[in-house]
Amino acid sequence: MLLYNSATHKKEEFQTHTPGKVEMYTCGPTVYHFAHIGNLRSYIMEDVLEKFLRWSGYEVNRVMNITDVGHLSSDADTGEDKMLKGAKREHKTVMEIAQYYTDAFFDDCRKLNIKRPDVVEPATHRIDDYIRIISGLLDKGYAYQAGGNVYFDTSKLERYYVFNDHNEEDLAVGVREGVEEDANKRNKNDFVLWFTKSKFEDQALKWDSPWGVGYPGWHIECSGISMKYNGEYLDLHCGGIDNAFPHHTNEIAQSESFLGHPWCKQWFHVHHLNTNTGKMSKSKGEFLTVSLLEEKGYDPLAYRFFCLQSHYRKGLVFSWENLDNAQGAYNKLIAKIAALDPKDGEVDEAVLAQYKEKFAQQVGNDLNTSMAVTALYDALKAKTNGATKLAILDSFDQVLSLSLLDKAAAVREEQAKVKATQAQAGYTVTGEGDPEIDALVKARGEAKKAKNFAEADRIRDELKARGIEITDVPGGAVWKRD
Ligand SMILES: [Zn+2]
Repeated sequence: MLLYNSATHKKEEFQTHTPGKVEMYTCGPTVYHFAHIGNLRSYIMEDVLEKFLRWSGYEVNRVMNITDVGHLSSDADTGEDKMLKGAKREHKTVMEIAQYYTDAFFDDCRKLNIKRPDVVEPATHRIDDYIRIISGLLDKGYAYQAGGNVYFDTSKLERYYVFNDHNEEDLAVGVREGVEEDANKRNKNDFVLWFTKSKFEDQALKWDSPWGVGYPGWHIECSGISMKYNGEYLDLHCGGIDNAFPHHTNEIAQSESFLGHPWCKQWFHVHHLNTNTGKMSKSKGEFLTVSLLEEKGYDPLAYRFFCLQSHYRKGLVFSWENLDNAQGAYNKLIAKIAALDPKDGEVDEAVLAQYKEKFAQQVGNDLNTSMAVTALYDALKAKTNGATKLAILDSFDQVLSLSLLDKAAAVREEQAKVKATQAQAGYTVTGEGDPEIDALVKARGEAKKAKNFAEADRIRDELKARGIEITDVPGGAVWKRD
């Protein structure tokens, strides 16, 4: 497949270190609050990428961290500790907060059909790995101690700005409001590997280390967890575009300095979800969560459908109107699939293969998900039987995960139920207000419907003997006394 690589700024043929096997890493959430739907856009697109690779025949080992320590409110290691902030806000311990929001994150993922990665590892579980890497970096002269903390020395690198979409000014540390520059740093882009001294005396989680009791910086956790579970050669690293700098830049710096060889081949960055007022964030405006979408009556999968309709390297504008349109289109798509008859013919393998081939080319061109959505409509229009159309849609949905066939089957079932109820309720008896006679007339109608004509005649004769005359009318019968 062709995939845009943010490290080289071009579309490249996707390659892996070991043929047929993808070592894939994803930066996970910082679990101090709910994820907003902008965060989840990244996870949806990464999920589609993973599923497409599997669909294409790759074996994938996908690893994700859960940040439960060390992530400060500025990604450049200054500001408040996010976990501590969450704990204070909710009067809970940091570990309680971490558990609660980790569960909430995976609940959202489940609702959005985002598969859980093969390995999910909380940052606090791998402290020994970080200590080993930091010790190695100190031994090799890539790190230094200052003011009690351990820093990575970016001046030791031949090349630091890998994702050079950023200019010098953007890289300046301390430009954000309320963030002070750390005077211990030798170079402005140096970053913390290990904190022992910080302004957070009440930091809840601390570990022993060769440099004193403290806790790891945010960036080191992704290098440590990836090396542990993906090995020394990473094929594909994913994240939101806002992670490209400084987080991913720092991951590359420390990983390659420690390993002594190139680390990750391919970088996949998903762009922002914007509102009309700019980039979606937790601190700005309405905090949009999956639960809020549900409360407002939307199917979370309609949001997934909305995300798939645009390319991951383009900003996507969210508005309620756009989501309404997506929900409407999603419902119509399901209805069209429900109208297909699974018993219509046998699957035509040749047609199925032909459609899959086209889909592989479309999606394989830098994960073109909007073309993938178009391919669903093309499949509906295919000149083939219902069984084949459903097989094509089923195959595509292994990548898109819109629950198309399940939802369509549910619609069919619902329609069948309604039909049955209508058929039952459809036999109306009109008479002179005698429930006993009504019941007998209805029983005669049902016997007729069941083609039990002897019983129907028997009831009619019985009623006749009691002076009741029956006239059949469309959808029922009318009776009267002689
Ligand atoms: Zn990361």
